[in-house]
Amino acid sequence: MKKYDQHYPFTLPALPYEYEALEPYLDSATLHYHHDKHLATYLANLNKILEANPELQKYSLVELLVNIDSIKPEVKTGLKNNAGGVFNHIMYFDLLSPVIEEVPAKLVEAFGSKEALLEKIKKVALGTFGSGFAWLVKKDGVYDVISLPNQDNPLSLGYTPLLPVDVWEHAYYLGYQNKRGDYLDNLFKIINWKEVAKNI
Ligand code: MN
Repeated sequence: MKKYDQHYPFTLPALPYEYEALEPYLDSATLHYHHDKHLATYLANLNKILEANPELQKYSLVELLVNIDSIKPEVKTGLKNNAGGVFNHIMYFDLLSPVIEEVPAKLVEAFGSKEALLEKIKKVALGTFGSGFAWLVKKDGVYDVISLPNQDNPLSLGYTPLLPVDVWEHAYYLGYQNKRGDYLDNLFKIINWKEVAKNI
C-alpha cells in the first residue's frame, strides 16, 4: 500500500493518463470534476483537519485509516471521510488504464473465471445503496468483494484493499446518468489489472 501512503501535508497527484485517455468509457469532463474537484476537496479538507490537529500529522494516510477507531471522536468522522476520500480516489484513478490488461490468474482462479469475478463486483456495486464503493479485498489470503458506504476504507476493517469501484453518482452521472450498470460494464474495460496484480 506504500504507493497510496502519503504524509501531511498531502498534495494532489496528477492523473496517470490524459483526461481524454479513457474515452469513450469514461469521459474527460467526469474525470476533470472527479479528480480536480472531488479528490482535491477531500485532500484540502484532510489537510485542514490535520492542520488543526498537529498531533495527528505524524501519521501516514494508511496509519490514519488502519487506526481510525482510536482517533478522538470530535475529528474521527471528518478524518474517516476525508482520509478515506483521498486514499480511495488516488487508488481508483491509479487502477484505471487506457491499455487493456489481462485479469491476473490468481483472481481468475479464486473466483472461478474472469466473468464470475466481474459479475460479483457488478452485483456488489449495483447493490450498494446510495453513495459508496464496491471493493475487491483480501483478508487472511482470501479474496472477496465487499460494499462500503461513503468513503469508508477496507484498511479500517482489517482488509487489504485491491480495487475500489466508485459508485457515487459523481463518478458516472455526467456520462451515464442513472445507468450505473452501463458505467460498470464500461469501467471493467479500463481496469489496470497489471497494477491491481502488484498488491495481490
Ligand atoms: Mn468519487
